[in-house]
Amino acid sequence: MKLVYTRRYNIGFLGLERLHPFDSRKYGRAWKAIGHEVRHLRNRAWVGVPRPASVMDLSAVHDPAYLKRLGDPLELSWALELPFIRKLPVWAVWRVVLRPMRWAVAGSLVAAREALTAGIAVNLSGGYHHAKPDRGEGFCVFNDIAYLVHGLRAEGRLTATDRIAYVDLDAHQGNGVSHHFRADHQVFMFDAFNPHIYPAHDRDARARIDCPIPLPARCAGAEYLHLVARSLPGFLDAIGRNARVGLAVYNAGTDVFTGDALGGLHLSAGDVLARDLYVIEQLRARGIPVVMLLSGGYSRESYRLVANTVVELLRRYGNPKVPTDS
Ligand SMILES: [Zn+2]
Repeated sequence: MKLVYTRRYNIGFLGLERLHPFDSRKYGRAWKAIGHEVRHLRNRAWVGVPRPASVMDLSAVHDPAYLKRLGDPLELSWALELPFIRKLPVWAVWRVVLRPMRWAVAGSLVAAREALTAGIAVNLSGGYHHAKPDRGEGFCVFNDIAYLVHGLRAEGRLTATDRIAYVDLDAHQGNGVSHHFRADHQVFMFDAFNPHIYPAHDRDARARIDCPIPLPARCAGAEYLHLVARSLPGFLDAIGRNARVGLAVYNAGTDVFTGDALGGLHLSAGDVLARDLYVIEQLRARGIPVVMLLSGGYSRESYRLVANTVVELLRRYGNPKVPTDS
């Protein structure tokens, strides 16, 4: 198992992070919390990120006109859902908010490459599943999921016929991913989401999901885990039947946690850990390499939930002396 992280993921936010429920430093907090538990395993699994994704790199998956519009404070404030951003100089927003995101996007591709050789890799950021080809929204400006799929194909690490399993268990539906892969049917989408919250209006995005799991309001852990366990194995078996599944992308949002300000679901910390381990086990049992991305998580506990999962994954798969291909 590999763990991709750089301290450049952390967003400074010009000291204004108190205005948004997002903990912009959760990446560094998770990194530290993992170190408190399993420092040796963490450091051995660590892979750095050489450079951020450039605007030129991003134009492979985003409309160049959209990238140009990100020089406009209104466009930025819309994508980031932060009205006060309009009043800040664009260069400052790029430096403090968008540059960390470009590092995270690059990190998702690094992690995806590592997943193909190590079997499991976690990027300690990323999962910007609301960013569309021509518009950012929901605090997602650049779509790292589209970026990593494009990158692996361009590098020849995935072929045009390799299938990709996209498993999105963030509380919000991954509408940006739906739009990116609207006509790409090598990407198979499994998405369990709260249908009563953003982006409920995006019907086209929902229609693209191959296996949609709309969750009941205030869904608690037992029911949530039951619904996922009832559908995920069949989904994975079906797409792997007559074809190779080259990679799974697991978008592991922690906004399903009961203390989350936006998710509207009621999973305990133990439920979130059980969910993550279940998904990884299902993929490993089928020999599908998996890259895990953090995605949303808007409680102060979010970093701890991430750390719980990564610590357990490192204990199980972080020791290269124990063969990870069972
Ligand atoms: Zn979310």
